[in-house]
Amino acid sequence: MTEQFDDSDILIRTSKLTKLFLASKFGILDRLTGVKPLYVRAVDGVNINIKRRSTVVLVGESGSGKTTMGRLLVTIEKPTSGEIFYGDLPLSKNFKAVREQVQIVYQNPFESLDPRMDISAIVEEPLLGKKISKEERKERVKQSLESVGLDYSYVYFRKAKDLSGGQRQRVALARAIISNPKFIVLDEPTSALDASIQSQVLNLLVDIKEKFGYTYLVITHNMMVTKYIADEVYVMYAGKIIETGSVDIIMKSPKHPYTQLLLKSIPSLENRKLEPMVGEPPSLINPPSGCRFNPRCPYAFDRCRMEEPELKEVESGHWVACHLY
Ligand code: SF4
Repeated sequence: MTEQFDDSDILIRTSKLTKLFLASKFGILDRLTGVKPLYVRAVDGVNINIKRRSTVVLVGESGSGKTTMGRLLVTIEKPTSGEIFYGDLPLSKNFKAVREQVQIVYQNPFESLDPRMDISAIVEEPLLGKKISKEERKERVKQSLESVGLDYSYVYFRKAKDLSGGQRQRVALARAIISNPKFIVLDEPTSALDASIQSQVLNLLVDIKEKFGYTYLVITHNMMVTKYIADEVYVMYAGKIIETGSVDIIMKSPKHPYTQLLLKSIPSLENRKLEPMVGEPPSLINPPSGCRFNPRCPYAFDRCRMEEPELKEVESGHWVACHLY
C-alpha cells in the first residue's frame, strides 16, 4: 500500500470517467466497408468524490450505469477515458497497491458463490497467492466469518448450497473483508434477500464499517436503502450523475425531477399514494439529445430537448443537472 492511498481526506475521486462498450461485434469487414461501430455509453464523463470512511450511495434504475461505475472503481473494468484517483495518485500509477485495497460484493449470493465449494475455501480465496502460513489463513477465515456474525464451527465445512440467502451474503462479505480492504463496493447488497433479512444485513454493514473503518460505495435502486445507509448520495441516470448532495439534502429537498419521482415511488405509512415512474430508461447506445431525462420528464420544455444540462451547485453541497435551476 502506498502512502498516497492513505493520506487524503478524499479516498477516491474520478475525473470525467467514461466507459464505452461495443454494442455489437465489429470486425475487419465492417471497418473496410466503412460501417461505424456502435457503443453503449455506460458511464459518461462522471465526476465523483468519495471521502474516507464514508458511505456513498449511487442510486438509480437498472441500466443507469451504476454497476459499471462500481466495477471501474474496483479495477475490474478499465476506463475508456477519464481518470480515477486513489488519494493523490491516478490509478495508472498505483494499480497494484489499489487492487489489494478494494473489494466488491455482488448482488446475488446465490449466483456469486459456487454452491459446491466449502465456505472456508470461498472465504480464503482472496488470500491465495499471498505469503501467509496455513495456520494464519485459517485464523483469518475464522475471524472474518465471526466478524459477519456467522458461527465458524457451523459453517466452516458446509457448502454455499447448504446456507440461506442471508447467510450466503454474510459469507460474501467475509470473503470481501478477509484481505483488510479500505474500500468496498456493495452492488445491490440486499435486493436478493427477504425483507426481514435485508435489515439484518444493512445493520451488519453499518456495524463492520464502524468497527474496521471501511469506505463504502453502495449501489442500489432502492431509496429506502439509500436513506438508511448513505452519507452522500449520487443519483445516476443514463450514464450521468444528475444530482448529488448529503443524504439529508437529497431526501428532504430533492431538486431534479428524476430524484423527486424516485422518492415518490417509496411506499410508507405517510405515502399511500405512490407515483410510479412513467416510461423506461433510455437506450445507452443512442440516448435522447439534450437532457437524457426529457422524454419522461413532466417539466420538459424546448431547451431540454436541445441542450444537455450541466451539473451545477444550486446551494452549498447540492449539485443538480437540470435547466429548471
Ligand atoms: Fe426535466 Fe428539462 Fe430538467 Fe431535464 S433539464 S430534468 S427535461 S426540466
